[in-house]
Amino acid sequence: MKFTWFQSKLTFVIIPEANGSVIRLKLSRAALWCTASLMLLLFGTTCMLSIRSLHSIVSVSLMSMEMKGQTAMLEQDLHRKNAAIERLQNDIYALSKQAAEVRSQMERMKRLEQDLHKLAPASVERRKAGGPPLSAAVSAGTGGMGGEAFPVTEEQTHELAAATGIRYTELHAEMKELASRLGQTKRQLQEKQEQRQRTPDIWPTLSKVVTSPYGYRRDPFTKKLSFHRGIDIAGKLGDPVYAVASGVVHSVAYDKLHGHNVVIEHDKGLRTWYMHLNSAQVNQGDKVDKGQAIGELGTTGRSTGPHLHYEVLLSGKSTNPAPYMSSDNRKKERKK
Ligand SMILES: [Zn+2]
Repeated sequence: MKFTWFQSKLTFVIIPEANGSVIRLKLSRAALWCTASLMLLLFGTTCMLSIRSLHSIVSVSLMSMEMKGQTAMLEQDLHRKNAAIERLQNDIYALSKQAAEVRSQMERMKRLEQDLHKLAPASVERRKAGGPPLSAAVSAGTGGMGGEAFPVTEEQTHELAAATGIRYTELHAEMKELASRLGQTKRQLQEKQEQRQRTPDIWPTLSKVVTSPYGYRRDPFTKKLSFHRGIDIAGKLGDPVYAVASGVVHSVAYDKLHGHNVVIEHDKGLRTWYMHLNSAQVNQGDKVDKGQAIGELGTTGRSTGPHLHYEVLLSGKSTNPAPYMSSDNRKKERKK
């Protein structure tokens, strides 16, 4: 029954317009089913392929967009990194310039130190200054510049950074050494200054008129030969009389022979004695500085006129004051 249904035929009549002849198509039901199934299959396959192709297009588009976004981000990142590298290179260059500047300053400090050493006692041994010569220092110029610009390579940047690092390490060590040496020089200078302060080497008066030197002379009163234990310096009544070195006032006294007189105790068993003062301006036990006014020039005691009898005593014995009056810079030392 079924088989006969498939074998039965269907006739399709195509009637053209006007005078055309009628076309009759006789098709079996089976052929018709086969054709319909084939067309359906073809349609389905086409639809599936279209969908798949559409999906692929969408995917590719999405991937393309994503890649574009990633590329833009990478480009930005690269740009940032390049900028950072450029900044670092500039920083390293600036540091290397600074190192050169510090080196130059260090050389100036070393020269200053050498000058200071010349002022310090000669016995002090000078340690050798380290580091490269001054010619290594780079000084900033103000003249013209030019030439071809070559981009700095990574290797050059590393070399500059390494050289700058070494330079800073060297500078650090040198500065440490220099600071230590300067400290030592300062102590030596202080010591020298203190020693100078303690050493009598200035005139005790404004006047430099010596009326009677140290040694044998005819006594101004008796006219007999006698030994003069000090030096007489004439001056105006009331002129200041100065301590010739720092020390402590040993005594302030008055008697008919020496008049108003002051004795100052200095270092190394040294004393200075100032006689015939109009008045004393210090008291026993006072600490006095070099150049400090200790009294007024006068003519008290055994004196023929306003003058200062200045005596230097070494371990209690009078000695020639002349070697202790060598300095001509008493004005610098003197305090007003
Ligand atoms: Zn005298």
